[in-house]
Amino acid sequence: MLSEKTFAQFPSNQQRSLHELSFQLYQDQQRRWPMLADGVAALQNVQFKDVDCGTFTARLQFNPKRIVSTGAKVDSATIKERKCFLCLSNLPPEQQGVLYKERFMILCNPTPIFREHFTISHIDHVPQSIEEQILTFLSLAKDLSPAYSVFYNGPKCGASAPDHMHFQASPAGLIPVEKEIDHFARQIKKIKDVNVSVLENYGRSVIVLEGADEQQMELSFLRLTSAMRPVMNTNEEPMMNVICSYRNNSWRVIVFVRSKHRPAVYFNEGEAKVLISPASVDIGGLIVTPMEKDFRLVDSAMVKGIYQEVSVSQDIISSIIEKL
Ligand SMILES: [Zn+2]
Repeated sequence: MLSEKTFAQFPSNQQRSLHELSFQLYQDQQRRWPMLADGVAALQNVQFKDVDCGTFTARLQFNPKRIVSTGAKVDSATIKERKCFLCLSNLPPEQQGVLYKERFMILCNPTPIFREHFTISHIDHVPQSIEEQILTFLSLAKDLSPAYSVFYNGPKCGASAPDHMHFQASPAGLIPVEKEIDHFARQIKKIKDVNVSVLENYGRSVIVLEGADEQQMELSFLRLTSAMRPVMNTNEEPMMNVICSYRNNSWRVIVFVRSKHRPAVYFNEGEAKVLISPASVDIGGLIVTPMEKDFRLVDSAMVKGIYQEVSVSQDIISSIIEKL
């Protein structure tokens, strides 16, 4: 199964970079796999709308194909009953991927938000957990740079397969926070050579780690999640979305600290229902709306309200920083 699903391997003795191989995969899969070709073609028709929220701007994307993810049921009973769509044996016959370090498969997402959008799933059916895979997360960001950034959705805040470990990747700089960050960041701490910052006046609760040493980045991240647990009162993985990029020989890990997955308006009945289900991309400033009605309706008050509702308070961020 693994060899039949492998388009290419990384690393290999061919000396191709991972971002080149991934781009090549995306081109090849569009030719061979009609579902992906349709998804990419549909991207030509998505609409955008910028919403001025005062200190920051959010970008809305009207993308009907995303109804599959945005509307996905992710309760444990539904997850248990469905066939896991990330397990290799359940992939469509046409689908192949780039095998990464013999453990992860870089796959094309057939309902893309971006011109190239990858799902990077573990070759085994193991639960979604960033602490277990933080080194892979960091090395993927480095190996996919400078073309792509990598992101992670926690099992309870945006992952549509919480039972199967996966990351995603998007063209670098297309999630707005990646470009806006310097404007909002205030450095508040250093853990050895890793800079710790928070974003201010950004309408969301964000902690950023930056550093050039992989091991120090790993340790700082694990220190951060350990500090989050008692403050957020959980023994499980603290709720978070994480976006990681690598440039100028240094990693930047952006952690959105979450209080809940879906806002109250998501659960309204009929016309009052707003299908916005924030994960990394949305909380990072590009809000995907699969319904045209919502795309028209959403204004700055709603964006600010949703961001605030699904993020932890600034007091919680201060307590986490204090414990770091
Ligand atoms: Zn699976």
